[in-house]
Amino acid sequence: MKRTYAVVVPILLIACAATRPVQDLAAGERPALDSDEAGLWMWSDHWEEDLSTSGLVVSDPGLNAYVREVACRVAQDYCGDIRVYVLEIPHFNASVYPNGMMVVWTGLLLRVQNEAQLAAVLGHEIAHYQRRHSITGWRDARNKAAMFTWGQILLYASGVPGAPLIDLAGQIAFFGSIFKFSRDHEREADRLGLELMAAAGYDPAEAPVIWEALIEEQEAEDESQPFIFISTHPHSDERAATLKQLAAEHRSATNADVTEQGRYVEQLLPLRGTLLEDELAQRRFPSTDLILERLRQTNAAPGEIEFFQGELYRLRGDSGDAERAGEHYRRALTLGGAPAEAYRSLGLVSRRVGDDAGACDAFRRYLELEPEADDRAMIEAFLAMRP
Ligand SMILES: [Zn+2]
Repeated sequence: MKRTYAVVVPILLIACAATRPVQDLAAGERPALDSDEAGLWMWSDHWEEDLSTSGLVVSDPGLNAYVREVACRVAQDYCGDIRVYVLEIPHFNASVYPNGMMVVWTGLLLRVQNEAQLAAVLGHEIAHYQRRHSITGWRDARNKAAMFTWGQILLYASGVPGAPLIDLAGQIAFFGSIFKFSRDHEREADRLGLELMAAAGYDPAEAPVIWEALIEEQEAEDESQPFIFISTHPHSDERAATLKQLAAEHRSATNADVTEQGRYVEQLLPLRGTLLEDELAQRRFPSTDLILERLRQTNAAPGEIEFFQGELYRLRGDSGDAERAGEHYRRALTLGGAPAEAYRSLGLVSRRVGDDAGACDAFRRYLELEPEADDRAMIEAFLAMRP
C-alpha cells in the first residue's frame, strides 16, 4: 500500500521539539496532536492498518478472541486501549507499539505452557505501553543524534517512492530491532507486568518459568543464532533469578495462584499441528525436541505429539533416525490425535530402511483415510510398481 510524504514530514519536524518528562499514560488517553508522540502514534496506526490486513494474522477467531480476553484481564482499565494480533511466525516474540497495537507471534504461543505464562508476557508488554517507554526511547535516540537512523525508519514506514522495499516479515524484524527498550525499561516492565498479572489472579511464579525454558532452548541451540525476543529483550540467569524473587514476594502478598493450564492447552489444540509444522520447517531440531517434551507432559492429543516427534527424526535424517521415526509413527497410530499423515510418513521411512512391504501397507492405509490426498497419484504410482 502506497502512502504519501504527508505522514513523514510532520514527524521529522515535531521531532525537534523539546524533551518533556514522561508520565504514565492514563486509560483512554491519546497524545496531544502537536506532540512528537502523536507522530509515533500516527506511524503506528498506518503500520497497524497494513499488518491487520496482511496474511500473517492468524484467521482462527477462537484463538484471537482467547488471547484478547487474557490481555484484557491483565490490562484491566486499559483493555479498550490494547488491540492484540496473533501473527503466524514461528519464533518467540511479543511486542507493543506506541498506539496500543500488540502483536503476539505463534512461536510464543507454542512455547508458553499455560495461561498464567501468557498473562506474564502480555503484562510485560502492557507495562511498556502504560509507562510510554517507546516515546522515551524515541527521545533518547534523538538526543543521541540518531536522526539519520530515524529518517531511514520513516522512509521505510512511509512507502516513499525510492525508499527501499522490504517485505512485511522483514519490516517486522526491522521495527522490532528499532523499538528496543533500555535495560531499565525492561526491568520496569518485568516488575509492573508481574503486578498486573498477580492483580488479575495469575500465579506470578509462572513468569520466570518462561525465561528458564527459553534459556534452556537457547543453550540447546547454536548460540550464534539468538531468538529474536531474547535479542531485543536482554536475558540472563540473573534476570530469571530476579523475576523469581519478585514473583515470590507478589505471590505471598496476593495469593494469586491461577495457571489455567487446561484451558490454555485446549484453546491452542486446534492450531497446534499447524504451529508444529511451522516450527519443524525452521529445522531447529534441539529446540523443537524440548517443545515436544513440554507438550507431551500436557497429555493432550498424544498421538499428534508422537507424530511430530517422528517427523523431527525423519526430517533430521541422522544415522538411525528413520528407525526412530518409524517407532514414533507406530506409537502415534495407537494413541489419540495422530493425523492420517502418520501413515504416509511411516510409508516414507519404511522405504528408507528397505521395508517395501511395510511401506505399501502404510501408503494404502493413508489413501483409505485421505482419498482426496494431493499426493495420491504419486503414491499410487509407487504402489503399482510393487507386487
Ligand atoms: Zn520488553
